[in-house]
Amino acid sequence: MDDRRNAITRARDCVQAISPYVPGKPADEVAREYGIEDVLKLASNENPLGASPRAVEAVSEGLRDLHVYPDGSGYRLKQAIGTHYVVDPGQITLGNGSNDVLELVARAYLEPGNNAVFSEHAFAVYALATQAAGADAKVVPARPADDPHMPFGAELEGMAAAVDENTRVLFLANPNNPTGTWVEAAELRALLDAVPPHVVVVLDEAYSEYVDDPAFPNGIELLAHYPNLVVTRTFSKIFGLAALRVGFAISDPAIASLLDRVRHPFNVNALALRAAEAALTDAAFVQQSRAVNRTGLAQWLKAADEHGWQTIPSRANFITVLTPFAAGRVFESLLREGVIVRPLGGSEARGGLTQALRITIGTAEQNRRAIGALARGLEALRTEESPA
Ligand SMILES: *Cc1c(COP(=O)(O)O)cnc(C)c1O
Repeated sequence: MDDRRNAITRARDCVQAISPYVPGKPADEVAREYGIEDVLKLASNENPLGASPRAVEAVSEGLRDLHVYPDGSGYRLKQAIGTHYVVDPGQITLGNGSNDVLELVARAYLEPGNNAVFSEHAFAVYALATQAAGADAKVVPARPADDPHMPFGAELEGMAAAVDENTRVLFLANPNNPTGTWVEAAELRALLDAVPPHVVVVLDEAYSEYVDDPAFPNGIELLAHYPNLVVTRTFSKIFGLAALRVGFAISDPAIASLLDRVRHPFNVNALALRAAEAALTDAAFVQQSRAVNRTGLAQWLKAADEHGWQTIPSRANFITVLTPFAAGRVFESLLREGVIVRPLGGSEARGGLTQALRITIGTAEQNRRAIGALARGLEALRTEESPA
């Protein structure tokens, strides 16, 4: 009987080496554990305004057709995205979240013997997708904490220099998660010019709708100049549809055709297709989400200034606070007040950021509560460290 267990150990080495992604603590679990009713979750960069009412209505209409397979080609949503972003529907790849699209790129391009380049403190999924494909991860050191230009940001010259003949993919998020750091248009152009044409550059723009600076680079506009560019976007953040899992890539149609071959035939569910299409039409909701985030980010920066908290520059819907304590300890002290944030220290942290918390920007009231909880938590830890 026992040799039946032999199969368990025969998984590919690259899979056995993966350390699993640890998701944020669910709110109801914290409610139960700590006996708190109104738990505030600011751990996963979800939209504090919820979803667009139009998307909610589209989902409820879709409930009538739960017995019908989704449109595997995503025809209507691709048309809508094409119109909205002024691209050809043939350039679009839909995914079960943009995570799915990132994995499609890895599945199409990465294998044992080749590699992917990304920055230290980059989005954790780049490492996971690379490892699952059995390829090597070339992790380029980020800018140092005292960098005058962009502390903890991606060092693009280093990333371009890390590319070798075996590199197939370069991943870059702009703005990045979990740091919130970003790259400017000229730097991005220089990177794209420096990367040789045998490398697919994945520009992950999950948070780009939060940036209201007209000079901020828009990957979609760069596609015409760089046929090796793949731009990814998501409906999980500003569009408020994280639960439904829908994201997409825009690329050269030839790359889209490759990604299409490795995706599951019905990778985006029918409710997600409907909701995403409706959400695209609700410009007012997106605008309001952006405004709430802008105000909330300013509220956090003001609080950080008043309390002397060090933060990483952010243009996303979260702020990463560097604390003097192990992130897990500060996280625990916030949990006791029913506030869930994201302690860094997992795969994102490689080589630092073990004392950092990533906190999603909420509504003004939510921010007030989280700021108060953080101030009290840090104060309590300081008292613990230095008993009178
Ligand atoms: C949240 C996030 C995504 C989006 O993931 P989905 O799978 O679309 O929910 C993609 N990239 C980064 C950097 C993110 O932070």
